[in-house]
Amino acid sequence: MPASLVLILRMLPFASSSLMEAFRSLVVDFEQNLRLGWLLFGSPLDIVRMILDILVTSFVIYFILKVMADTRAWQLFKGILFILIFAALSDLIGLQTINYLLVNSISVLAIGFVVIFQPELRRALETVGRNSLRLLFTSVPEYDNESRSLHNIIESIVIACEHMALTYTGALILIERETKLGELVQGTAVVLDSALSSTLLEQIFYKGAPLHDGAVLVRGDRVHAARVHVPLSDNYHLRRDYGTRHRAAVGASEIGDTISVVVSEERGTISLAMAGRLYPMRDGDALRSLLHRVLAPSEKASGKRRGVGLRNMFSGVQSVVSLDDELEDATPQVHDRRAERRSRILLRLGSVGLAVALWIVVQVNVNPIEELTLQQVPIQVLHSQSLMDELNVNYSRDVNVANLRIRVRQRYSGKVTRDNVVASIDFDDLDRASIRVGLKESPTDTRTLPVRIEIADLSDYAYQVILRYPTEQLITFYKANPEPATVPGGG
Ligand code: ATP
Ligand code: MG
Repeated sequence: MPASLVLILRMLPFASSSLMEAFRSLVVDFEQNLRLGWLLFGSPLDIVRMILDILVTSFVIYFILKVMADTRAWQLFKGILFILIFAALSDLIGLQTINYLLVNSISVLAIGFVVIFQPELRRALETVGRNSLRLLFTSVPEYDNESRSLHNIIESIVIACEHMALTYTGALILIERETKLGELVQGTAVVLDSALSSTLLEQIFYKGAPLHDGAVLVRGDRVHAARVHVPLSDNYHLRRDYGTRHRAAVGASEIGDTISVVVSEERGTISLAMAGRLYPMRDGDALRSLLHRVLAPSEKASGKRRGVGLRNMFSGVQSVVSLDDELEDATPQVHDRRAERRSRILLRLGSVGLAVALWIVVQVNVNPIEELTLQQVPIQVLHSQSLMDELNVNYSRDVNVANLRIRVRQRYSGKVTRDNVVASIDFDDLDRASIRVGLKESPTDTRTLPVRIEIADLSDYAYQVILRYPTEQLITFYKANPEPATVPGGG
């Protein structure tokens, strides 16, 4: 198709104008690049191999991203990804300075990423080992049919805290939001994944109960795990009389946008920790209204009261918990699932995109396209005998060797040898009757035949002849000696 386009352009009368010239060369270049691109794919077997390669790579990338998305490293990872995309864009547009800056910071960032998140990465890898099959073949059902509204989530927490404060029961509840806390669920932690209720919370923290020690992780509308150990905060501004439980609450609130609610065993008070700060609550009602304010995503709920920074920080709640206490269960759930499904599809598409990009980079680097030159390849003549016998003629030709330049992928360059590469002309391409007529009128008749190139064990798609000399061969036929043909004709 590009070839015909080129032809049309050549025939245009004003093709000599410089603009047309530029356009024409663009099309020719495009055709060249298309052929080169095709070379990247190679033979049909190569294409099958490529699809398999990309599929498996996509799976691996999807899997890594899925595991990573559950850790604190995720946000930083997204940042690096953004820088990568931005760097590629700036390179494309030609913004050299910013591109230089970005490209050089990427390597530093990548090293920093590995160093800073070594524990998270290690845990993520451990998860790979533990859940490899489960993660690959099931879509993680984070929001099941029992999904409830934010209102119910807050009520469960508030009621439980009120009761526990009355009975001086110590408790620590982590509310997971945008920043995933899956990395905390290890060691002594026990995964419950049960529907959240005030009774369940009270039961967990009941003094002497097996799960009362440590924190409870609330993910969406479920109690994801209990007996979670939280890194303590180094916050020096914490009052001295606060012990490790409160320090852990503040520590948890320093992990991204996590909110923690703590009930003191010694004082019977409730506090809420957010963004590294501890806020003592007067009573359950105070906790209830504050939770509504920070967990509800709408502008009218959180926007007026808090600063823009805080609002941005907490604007992601929507995807974690259902919202709006006025609305009944149905609507917010649908919204949640849709957001969940959208992010999953996005993750899958992103994985495939990354895999394709990676494939191209690897192909270009590991198995680049090479140009090989072959000199003096003998040109074979096919089906000459039958023609000579039939017409009783002899022939001569001008040259009998060809010089070639061939483009192949490096993997196949070993096959481009003088033994494998066959240059040929085929007498079956000639119109025999017209030669007979031509020889009746004059003693000789000349024809041209295209020189064909084939490479043994290499499919037509896997190589490209970019230069051949000669491209065609001149054949001169003349009548053979008058004696009749005695040799029986071959095929
Ligand atoms: P309280 O006012 O309830 O006494 P506190 O701030 O004084 O709390 P401690 O008295 O030291 O803290 O409370 C100890 C309890 O806190 C432990 O039994 C444990 O359940 C919980 N806790 C301590 N450290 C952590 C941690 N890193 N992660 C989760 N829970 C912890
Ligand atoms: Mg104490």
